[in-house]
Amino acid sequence: MQIETIYKEANALLEGHFLLSSGKHSRFYLQSAKVLEDPKVAEELAVALAKMIQAYGLEIDTVCSPALGGVLAGYELARALGKRFIFAERVGGEMTIRRGFDVKKGEKILVCEDIITTGGSALEAANVAQSMGGIIVGFAALANRGFCKRVGSDLEAKPTCKLPNDAPFFALADFEFDIYDPSDCPLCKEGSIAYKPGSRGN
Ligand code: ZN
Repeated sequence: MQIETIYKEANALLEGHFLLSSGKHSRFYLQSAKVLEDPKVAEELAVALAKMIQAYGLEIDTVCSPALGGVLAGYELARALGKRFIFAERVGGEMTIRRGFDVKKGEKILVCEDIITTGGSALEAANVAQSMGGIIVGFAALANRGFCKRVGSDLEAKPTCKLPNDAPFFALADFEFDIYDPSDCPLCKEGSIAYKPGSRGN
């Protein structure tokens, strides 16, 4: 399965000159929601991710995703694994699990995102599920931005990765892009102007 091709065809992997929310510039931008626009593609990706997790032999009771980004990916993954799905959401800035979802003591939880950058939201969702009695058995995402180490990749974790070392992290592919300070951006030097993803209809 050529993950990069699937992302490109879905216009989820954009090429241009982007101004990121961090203020840095990049040639690439991952619009991860776009790849889930077609439910058939979402299903295909989730089935591939489920196969990796099953091949590893991970035991799971429930998939839990941080809203909003992780919900579609997590729901499709739960379907592919034949497991229950719950989500965590931010209320007043704090991650919570509500809406009547419960977590039983010792319940094995896999936390799923659409994309893991440093894994901050995934870790917050994991902490909430754990505080309710769950055991975090692993993390999953469709795409890894290259800051965390996923099972089966040679790419090492960067110090900014927030995922714990003692839980496996599964993702379909690494999308590691160079990012530049505006003062040192080769695209700026070529004379083009960086724009915010979304501001031109993407
Ligand atoms: Zn630039």
